[in-house]
Amino acid sequence: MPDKVVSTQLLTCSYREGKVLEDVSFQVERGDYVGIVGPNGSGKSTLIKALLGLVTINSGSAALFNTSLAQFREWHKVGYLPQSLHLVNPVFPATVRETVGLGLLSLKRFPKRLSRADNDNISILLDELGISDLAHKLIGELSGGQLQRVLLARAIVNNPELLVLDEPTAALDPETRGRFYAMIAEINRSRGVTVLLVTHDSGTIGEYASKMLYLDKKLLFYGSFDEFCCSPEMSSLFGEHSQHLMCHRH
Ligand code: ADP
Ligand code: MG
Repeated sequence: MPDKVVSTQLLTCSYREGKVLEDVSFQVERGDYVGIVGPNGSGKSTLIKALLGLVTINSGSAALFNTSLAQFREWHKVGYLPQSLHLVNPVFPATVRETVGLGLLSLKRFPKRLSRADNDNISILLDELGISDLAHKLIGELSGGQLQRVLLARAIVNNPELLVLDEPTAALDPETRGRFYAMIAEINRSRGVTVLLVTHDSGTIGEYASKMLYLDKKLLFYGSFDEFCCSPEMSSLFGEHSQHLMCHRH
């Protein structure tokens, strides 16, 4: 059986105003790092939400880990970092360490308590992401970049096999963004985590991701950056020069 972490067949989603995703078919293999790009309102967040079961699929289908969404129960395999940081209550009196720990507790049955091994894992992760020194700070005291790393830690503390990130860096300056994408690339490599990352940075993501998915209601391109660079259809969309700059390969 082919090892598909994500697959969609003619996926179509509509809101009241009409279709926002039409006939989208693609497959993500284990270990891929897919950068999802496209204009504002092109359906990127809707695609992500459809894959997570958060919006209704009107026709076509989607599957995670070779299991159709309707049957899929193994949500512990999926880590999600949503688009909006507004979801984080800045006055919620939790420390960085506690916030990351919540990612583990959310999957535990009662009694919900962190084991010594859990605490060790949290320490290792904070260290990996360079936020050990923030462990006892309140999350309300963090900068945007620091908060992003904490939320990333919370999303990956369960060792998900698939990590889904929706414009996680929108609030960050370009340099911090680059570091964040590099950090994701490292997690992808060292832990073998498959990554879907929605981003505005179509010019930058080629430096880090292994595949590009270009969406504009329909799927206009999906493949490696080499393929992107050689695609005549993409030349007519972006122009050869930009295509080459975006590819970051040669
Ligand atoms: P992107 O993430 O690429 O900016 P979205 O998936 O958020 O695009 O939105 C795609 C289209 O669907 C946009 O036209 C947007 O206005 C519309 N849309 C998004 N969410 C909703 C919703 N909950 N109800 C109605 N329309 C929505
Ligand atoms: Mg969006």
